[in-house]
Amino acid sequence: MEDDTLLAHAGRKPFENYGIVNPPVYHASTVLFPTLEAFQSAATAKVKYGRRGTPTSFALEEAVAKLEGAHGAVALPSGLAAITTALMACTKAGDNVLITDSSYAPTRQFMDNLLVRFGVSATYYDPTIGADIDGLIRDNTSVVWTECPGSQTFEMQDIPAIAKAAKARGAIVMMDNTWSGGYFCKPLALGVDISVQAGTKYIVGHSDTMMGTVACNEATYQRVHDTMGYLGIAPGPDDVYLALRGLRTMGVRLRQHHEAGLKIARWLSQRPEVERVMHPGLESDPGHAIWKRDFTGASGLFGFVLKSDRHEAVAAMMDSLRYHGMGYSWGGFESLLIPTSPQKARSATQWDPAGQTFRIHVGLEDPDDLIADLADGLQRFNDAL
Ligand SMILES: *Cc1c(COP(=O)(O)O)cnc(C)c1O
Repeated sequence: MEDDTLLAHAGRKPFENYGIVNPPVYHASTVLFPTLEAFQSAATAKVKYGRRGTPTSFALEEAVAKLEGAHGAVALPSGLAAITTALMACTKAGDNVLITDSSYAPTRQFMDNLLVRFGVSATYYDPTIGADIDGLIRDNTSVVWTECPGSQTFEMQDIPAIAKAAKARGAIVMMDNTWSGGYFCKPLALGVDISVQAGTKYIVGHSDTMMGTVACNEATYQRVHDTMGYLGIAPGPDDVYLALRGLRTMGVRLRQHHEAGLKIARWLSQRPEVERVMHPGLESDPGHAIWKRDFTGASGLFGFVLKSDRHEAVAAMMDSLRYHGMGYSWGGFESLLIPTSPQKARSATQWDPAGQTFRIHVGLEDPDDLIADLADGLQRFNDAL
């Protein structure tokens, strides 16, 4: 089944619910058992208590598992909850985790401030390390964490090479797959054990709900599922419903983000104010060959660096944008532009261009309107230099 067909059908069972196309939103804490016998065998029941999932959350989990080509998936209340649950499920005191230096900054904060207190150490590595990751793997390396492309700086990682080296040493490989939505990249087919997404971004797609997903192979599913149970975190049913609703249209949205994002990345790379554009879909990008090999498209999120970081010029550009909002998160229908400081969340590699770095999310507006907005902004930037 092709992905667009899967997105329209996966996780739906209309004829278990009067033929209604979408699953009902089950609001549940207590679940009643009809007999003492049923009550006493509750542990093996699929639906037993609100926190342990309902047919609403099972529908999302089933759809995401199919999309990612996984044995099973779990839904969690945020992308960060998905990351922390996956990491806790696969580490114990004394273990070491290898983490890409380009990882989402809160992943790093979780490792450095919380997991370290439970005796798990973190070693950060250059995202472009590829097969040389082998030199960092020790006997106590339990997890190799990847994110592709990297947050803010968009380096591509050679996931198959990293996965091969890690597997040979018995380490579990995880990838933050938020950028591709699970649509443009299938980490499990590249050798990854666990693919994590901030569903908040492209699955939800409308900037109105937080969601996280962890898609697991057979060897890791049960412990991730159990860890979620131990931690007692479960997404609310209305949020799960909104994620399912978003998922149905993710393919068409992502194709539009791909087209418009590349158009704007190409336009930016021709502008004299722009020092460099970080978008793996550009032929000139150092990660382009890997992207072409492992991805079938690009989302609307990428980075660029301007030639100056003069505060007045950056403010003049940012403060009067018409269509590009300034705020955290991304993956919704609307365009966003924020200045970033990648050097603040690095320890194994340097990020030191002279000018200001930005992260742009190209939304679903007409790309020519977005280009006009950016052109006016760059004019204000120039005038204030
Ligand atoms: C936003 C984001 C997350 C965290 O998702 P939340 O739902 O905001 O917790 C994780 N990884 C990446 C790459 C992100 O961009």
